[in-house]
Amino acid sequence: YPSLKDRSVLVTGGASGIGRAMAFAFARQGAPVGIVDRDTEGAAKTATAISADGGRAFAAPADVTDIQALRAAIASVAAAMGPIRVLINNAGNDQRHDFATLTSDYWDERMAVNLRHLAFAAQAVTPGMEAAGGGVIINLGSTSWMQGAAGLIAYGTAKAAIGGFTQCFARDLGPSGIRVMCIAPGRTMTERATAGGLDPDYEAQTLARQAVKTLVLPEDIANLALWLASDDARIMSGQTIIADGGHMMR
Ligand code: NAD
Repeated sequence: YPSLKDRSVLVTGGASGIGRAMAFAFARQGAPVGIVDRDTEGAAKTATAISADGGRAFAAPADVTDIQALRAAIASVAAAMGPIRVLINNAGNDQRHDFATLTSDYWDERMAVNLRHLAFAAQAVTPGMEAAGGGVIINLGSTSWMQGAAGLIAYGTAKAAIGGFTQCFARDLGPSGIRVMCIAPGRTMTERATAGGLDPDYEAQTLARQAVKTLVLPEDIANLALWLASDDARIMSGQTIIADGGHMMR
């Protein structure tokens, strides 16, 4: 995608999993990539690996639940790489919980990890995007809530809200030349999911529910993000794209 070359990209949660695959994919398009992650060592390792791969990357450690730290990390990436033209709001995690013992503090913490930071990362990058002539924001949703997920009420609620957030922001930011999209991955084979090797039952169960009999890899999600962020997708905004091997088919 020639339109991605030299466009600065910021990936939250870029130290591992889907975010790491995204950081590599954009760097291979010639884009400088900023990695914001609470895993300081992991973010530095990813940046070093991207440099060894011939790309440009900059690690800016921060916990995205700390909005001041997030703003400072975004500012340091922009100072190092120029205005951010593509924001990938990817950090999040699907910690399980028992509904009966759920506390309001835990609920707020889950919303902070999976939802709140998306708005403030977007707020921090949009003036630079507007001044540079436009930009793209890609939010990571999930299919987990689409048919309900037991034990994942807080995560599922946050991920469902990301679809609405995407639509509202798309409407608000469209006149400034900024497109906002959501990718909802299905079960994706990250290092975390396959730690200790892929469980044959997990693999078989995943493939049984998909139309496409190929496991979804982090690189598949990254490839979709490349297209969405490129000028080839200039008419795409406000949508949630499900990338799950044809499981949900909504
Ligand atoms: P992962 O755990 O492999 O990677 C997540 C990264 O985010 C890690 O590097 C972690 O350190 C970072 N992170 C987590 N909380 C953070 C915080 N508070 N501040 C800063 N960094 C933080 O996860 P993944 O599977 O690659 O998931 C990436 C995104 O995709 C998440 O939003 C997740 O909900 C979504 N998703 C994943 C799947 C899947 O099957 N893997 C499916 C649907 C949606």
